Amino acid sequence: MPRNTALFERASQTIPGGVNSPVRAFRSVGGVPRFIERANGPYVWDAQGTRYTDYVGSWGPAILGHAHPEVIKAVQDAAVNGLSFGAPTEAEIEIAEALVARLPSIEKVRLVSSGTEATMSAIRLARGYTKRPKIIKFEGCYHGHADSLLVKAGSGMLTFGNPTSAGVPPEFIQHTLVLDFNNIDAVEAAFNAHGDELACIIVEPIAGNMNLVRPQPGFLEALRQLCTKHGALLIFDEVMTGFRVGPQGVQGLTGVKPDITTLAKVIGGGMPVGAFGGRADIMEYVAPLGPVYQAGTLSGNPVAVAAGLVTLKLLSEPGFYDRLEAQTRKLADGLAERAENAGIPFSADYVGGMFGLYFRERIPTTLAEVSECDIELFKKFFHAMLIKGIYFAPSAFEAGFVSATHDDDVINATLDAAEEVFAKL
Ligand code: PMP
Repeated sequence: MPRNTALFERASQTIPGGVNSPVRAFRSVGGVPRFIERANGPYVWDAQGTRYTDYVGSWGPAILGHAHPEVIKAVQDAAVNGLSFGAPTEAEIEIAEALVARLPSIEKVRLVSSGTEATMSAIRLARGYTKRPKIIKFEGCYHGHADSLLVKAGSGMLTFGNPTSAGVPPEFIQHTLVLDFNNIDAVEAAFNAHGDELACIIVEPIAGNMNLVRPQPGFLEALRQLCTKHGALLIFDEVMTGFRVGPQGVQGLTGVKPDITTLAKVIGGGMPVGAFGGRADIMEYVAPLGPVYQAGTLSGNPVAVAAGLVTLKLLSEPGFYDRLEAQTRKLADGLAERAENAGIPFSADYVGGMFGLYFRERIPTTLAEVSECDIELFKKFFHAMLIKGIYFAPSAFEAGFVSATHDDDVINATLDAAEEVFAKL
């Protein structure tokens, strides 16, 4: 039996579905997940010794490429001094200062250990600060697995939604309004109906969890304006886009300033780190200064912070994001060109080191349009590329990621493989 298969069977004996996060199980594409043994630069190697060019990048963090020597050294150096103290450290100040210096919307910041914790805490903070119960989220945006966020739209535009997970009582999501991404009219209507009860809007300012979907011109600006007008807070969930699409996330690209920003992935350099930060007067509502409780045994963990700090430092090198985006563009445009030559309905989009691939003629702007992508064609493409040693996200609804180590040779090899695959689809 192939070793990946054997490991998957063994894993399934003791781990639900054999994985510690569902999308890893290859359920939506079928087949056996690759059990990864090691990674370096743009590559991962599985338990059978097969090398793959990796466009998942640990779902975003691996922006410098896997096992970057300076990051590994920082982790090793920190580990020697002890793994966790449950007391403050100087490195935590340094990473807070680094985030505050880079993102003008953040005046104070609290560290946590995951994106889920960051968004869950940001929403509690928004509710505590505004003393209002209701929140707006957009269908297709993912903000981690806190109860009140696991919800999809109900039948009418202004009805409260339905849980998307068992174990979430409808009462837990009765304050969550779910609207269509890029639909300003729906947000206006929600504020007209519930304005003085709305604590916040939480949004992925470039969506990356329904594949990549950009905000349409004016959408984020309208969210900002409506929140300000109605006394609600605007939360940008930049867990995925933060330090990924550019040096200041989507807020830097668009100039739209959120009240609270959530971060994770890249800021941990591959270690478990998340953060939420924003205006000082809002952040001072968090314990121990304020009445909003929030805590974590491993928050600000010294080894994780060491990885994050050196990652942020390396991302500040001049031209980093220009070079990264140039490589992502070569990949996205190159794939679109080869698909077109083969007569495959396909389009691709990218921002910074993040990209979307769509088996559809035109780049989608809504979840409904994303849903029109040809899933069967994607599955065939995914598996044919995997056989050629190219590892894309195992789902048609995920964004992909390029790292600083995806050089021209790496991208060209991917495009050559794709040309052969498209010709046979
Ligand atoms: N928000 C966004 C935008 C995300 O993409 C994710 C994870 N993919 C999360 C929150 C949750 O982060 P984590 O998986 O670290 O809990």
